[in-house]
Amino acid sequence: MDLGPWTLDSPPDCRILFAMDEAGLRELVCEIGRRMYSKDMVAANEGNLSIRVGDRLLATPTGMCKGYLKPDDLVWTDLEGKQTGGRLKVSSEILMHSVVYLHRPDVQAVCHGHPVYATAHAVAGIPLTAALMPEVVVTLGCVPVAPYATPSTQQLADSLVDLVPRHDAILLANHGAITLGSDLEAAFFRMEVLEHYAKIAILTKVLGEQTLLSREEVERLFDLRSKYGISGADSRDSSCAVTAEDSQPVELSRSDLESLIETAVQEVARLSEGK
Ligand SMILES: [Zn+2]
Repeated sequence: MDLGPWTLDSPPDCRILFAMDEAGLRELVCEIGRRMYSKDMVAANEGNLSIRVGDRLLATPTGMCKGYLKPDDLVWTDLEGKQTGGRLKVSSEILMHSVVYLHRPDVQAVCHGHPVYATAHAVAGIPLTAALMPEVVVTLGCVPVAPYATPSTQQLADSLVDLVPRHDAILLANHGAITLGSDLEAAFFRMEVLEHYAKIAILTKVLGEQTLLSREEVERLFDLRSKYGISGADSRDSSCAVTAEDSQPVELSRSDLESLIETAVQEVARLSEGK
């Protein structure tokens, strides 16, 4: 069977190398499902995974625990998410995967789950944009929150359209997270780094101190993203990152503060007169 173009980026040591034929890809999806379930990134039947194989998607079925998938449980769809093969029914969240593949030709795999700390940020509506650690800036860039839409609907897929070209990891408001990769392990590693980062972000808030990286350092790290071809072409804008300079307290003299308040009051008065 011809599986179309397929490349596995230079593998870190923790990768398991699967044969890149259909049987190997099916094993890989089951393995990543086991890792997602064992690492609390999904509960019960939650989450879904897919791989682009030419003009088709190999995807997880609905209603199955990702920790116990078997290779022949997986299903085939076309790029729009319409099922073309498999004895089980495809995940109802396949539309979300489909929108990623349609807008990002560089992406070959998508991982969706509800990891606890990342989802806590998604529920709180807090994007993960603080430049806390260099590895995270290089691997994830900025992680925005997509507006809420009902899971499994076209509206949820549509809510991602503007963000997918610029981001490799996205929080879904009141729902979970989605990560993209040049292969399924790369997408899973992004989910793993995202959850790790979200946990550290929450813990540093609890400790009451977050020391952020400087703007200059963040720009250097974003350059590395470009150099290593880590992200899609549109995701190299570093302006979304919150850096040390952004969190610096501003010092104002009393007279400066009074003058600022006076200007604001006059502006509000001017605007209300103009109504
Ligand atoms: Zn979900």
